[in-house]
This record gives sequence, C-alpha cells and structure tokens, in this order.
Amino acid sequence: MSSAGPVFERIALIGIGLIGSSVARVVKRDGLANHIAVSARSQESLDTAMRLGIADSITLNAAEAVRDADMVMVCTPMGTYTDVVAAIADDLKPGCILTDVGSVKGSAVRDLSVGLPENVHLIPAHPVAGTEHSGPEAGFAELFDGRWCIVTPPEGADADALEKVRAFWERAGSDVEIMAPDHHDQVMAMTSHLPHLIAYTIVGTASDLEKSLVNEVIKFSAGGFRDFTRIAASDPTMWRDVFMNNKEAVLEVLQRFTEDLTALQRNIRWDEGDKLFELFSRTRAIRRGVIDAKQEKLYD
Ligand code: NAP
Repeated sequence: MSSAGPVFERIALIGIGLIGSSVARVVKRDGLANHIAVSARSQESLDTAMRLGIADSITLNAAEAVRDADMVMVCTPMGTYTDVVAAIADDLKPGCILTDVGSVKGSAVRDLSVGLPENVHLIPAHPVAGTEHSGPEAGFAELFDGRWCIVTPPEGADADALEKVRAFWERAGSDVEIMAPDHHDQVMAMTSHLPHLIAYTIVGTASDLEKSLVNEVIKFSAGGFRDFTRIAASDPTMWRDVFMNNKEAVLEVLQRFTEDLTALQRNIRWDEGDKLFELFSRTRAIRRGVIDAKQEKLYD
C-alpha cells in the first residue's frame, strides 16, 4: 500500500469486466482516485460492482459516467470503441485523459480519435496481464503486480498526460514501457496473439476428432493439451476483436510460423533428429530467459 495521495480526483471506467474490475480494485485498495464512476452494458454488472464496493457511482449511460472525470478508461472489447467514443465525446471534461486497456494499440489510436475534442488527451495503454476469466467477479487487485503495462501515446501526445498515465500504472504495481502503437502490435502478435491462435487451433482440431478420441484427449490432457485448453478458454469476443484489429502483424508472424512448421514436418519425415534436437535446445534457452525476466506467471 502506497502512502502517496490519489493520482486522479475522479475516474470513469467504461466496462467493469476482468480488467476494469481489477483496475477498480487496485484503485480502491491503494487510493489512486477519490471517486470511481462505472458504466457497463448491463445493470447486473453495475450492481455487482456496487456490491463488491469497487464503484462509487454506476450508470448505464456512459456519457453520464465520464462527466467531470479527470481520466476515462475504456475497458470494453475493442469492437465497441467507435460506439463508446461517439457516446462520450461531447461529455468529456476539457483537459481530461482518455485511455484504454485494449490488447491492440494501432486500432485503439485510430478508433478512439474519431470525433475526440482537441482538448482531450488520448493516451492508450495495454496492461499485459489477464486470465481466461471474464466479468466483474473475475478481477483481483494484484493482477498488475510486476507485469508490464505498455503505454502507446500517439505522436505529439501531451507530456503531462503521459506522465499521469505512467504514474497511475506504476502505482497499480506495473512496470511501464512507452512504445509506438504499431511496434506494440508487432511484438504482441508474436508473444500473445499467435500463441492464442495456435491454442484455438489445437483445441479446435481435438474437438473435431471422433467422439471416443475426444473423450480420451480430455481424460489424458496432462500431456501438454491442458495448457492449451486454458488459453483456448479465453473470451471469444475479446479475441475475435484482437484478430480483427491486428490483422497485418498477425498474418506476418503466422506466415513465418507456417514456414517453420513445414520445416519441422520435413525434419520428422526425413529422420533429421539432430535438427529437432538443435531447435528444442534453443527453445529451452528461451524458457530460461523468460524465467530470468520474471515473466513466467501462469496468467497473461
Ligand atoms: P470482460 O471481462 O468481458 O468485460 C468487458 C466489459 O465491457 C463488461 O463490463 C461489459 O459489460 C462491457 N461491455 C461490453 N460491450 C459493451 C458495450 N457495447 N458498451 C459498454 N460496455 C460494454 O472483458 P476484459 O477481459 O475485461 O477485456 C476488456 C478489454 O481488456 C479488452 O479490450 C481486452 O482487449 C483488454 N485486455 C484483456 C485482457 C485479458 O486477459 N482478458 C488482458 C489485457 C487487456 P457487461 O458486463 O455489462 O456485459
């Protein structure tokens, strides 16, 4: 618990699912703001937020939530961004910061800029932390501890607003890195988006097997399959939006991956065990690097 005062007087969270509710919990725990206004799609989620004590005011009307907020954080799936910004643009306080938590940043800058008043500072960000669970009950205040938050200011962004967003995430427990939005998307295509796509494919392939085989795959899933099922249980809406919004970078790494897979196929066909051994030794070293960088926690 930090002894410093609040970073913002009043914040608004649009969306109170896994990420929004984790933000709300850490804000409450560490006093990062004096008032949290929350808006979501359903009254049920808003009532849950109130019951959990992570909202000071709730409303189905996003425009009402953002009024007088010093920072507005969009925590909804990325496919909603243009609708969200259209709903709130006229009610944003002059000088306020508009940020988000979306997993793709080029499209966040593009979609959140549409119709945004010039006196509002757009500073998108991506906390690289999550689980396969969704909804307001799924959040927890420690989610961001020791995890990266990548802040991606558009060119010419206000320096003070950037520093405030950085301070907010550091106080929430994150290590902050500043990156260009497109660069962020290339890095995430490899580290997050491609692995999810592979997990969805493997679990999809397994589910298409004949029924008796599917049952055995589930029964003996410890042999590697289990970890893929966790990733492939991630929210379908969120991940559809990730792939729709990071098309170019994902297709680029997917092309390279497909070539490498074909090479492996050849190695197996032609009994080139030494090549497999060489690759598996290199990949083992990468795992050691991940552990040394303290990035091995199960959720991401
Ligand atoms: P989530 O648990 O499914 O929560 C989504 C929230 O958005 C819910 O409160 C939902 O309201 C609200 N919402 C959905 N559509 C809306 C709309 N049209 N208008 C207003 N509110 C709407 O999702 P999440 O996992 O927190 O993900 C939110 C964002 O975080 C995504 O952009 C994702 O890319 C990013 N992110 C996710 C992870 C992760 O691992 N999950 C990690 C890093 C970043 P209701 O509850 O009322 O339906």
